[in-house]
Amino acid sequence: MDCVFCGIANGTVPARLLHEGERVLAFADLNPQAPTHILIIPRAHYASIQDVPAAEFGIIGELTAVAQDLARARGIWPAGYRLVVNAGPDGGQTVGHLHVHLLAGRQMTWPPG
Ligand code: 5GP
Ligand code: ZN
Repeated sequence: MDCVFCGIANGTVPARLLHEGERVLAFADLNPQAPTHILIIPRAHYASIQDVPAAEFGIIGELTAVAQDLARARGIWPAGYRLVVNAGPDGGQTVGHLHVHLLAGRQMTWPPG
């Protein structure tokens, strides 16, 4: 399967890794949209959050736990951050492997683009 995030997960595509867990990986976004822009992904391939079966929702908790740990360890909290999961064409998803964006280091705006 030709998936760039699977490539990062299996080490064939280089990335600036920030967390390497058994089931979850975090790395710096190639095109950062904030002073801190980290992508948190499951090592397992899910095409989007819509493709995670209810029986496997535990992985979503694990992605959240890594976001909390990174926010704590990198001093992002309590200033704050934004987690974003784009899904499908209207959601603006461009890479078809589930990922959570952790954005921080500036005031976020609302509504999002
Ligand atoms: P999406 O638009 O799917 O929610 O987000 C995809 C994100 O992946 C974008 O922010 C984009 O900059 C990032 N990205 C795409 N290809 C690569 C890559 O090869 N390496 C890294 N580190 N980030 C990537
Ligand atoms: Zn993948």
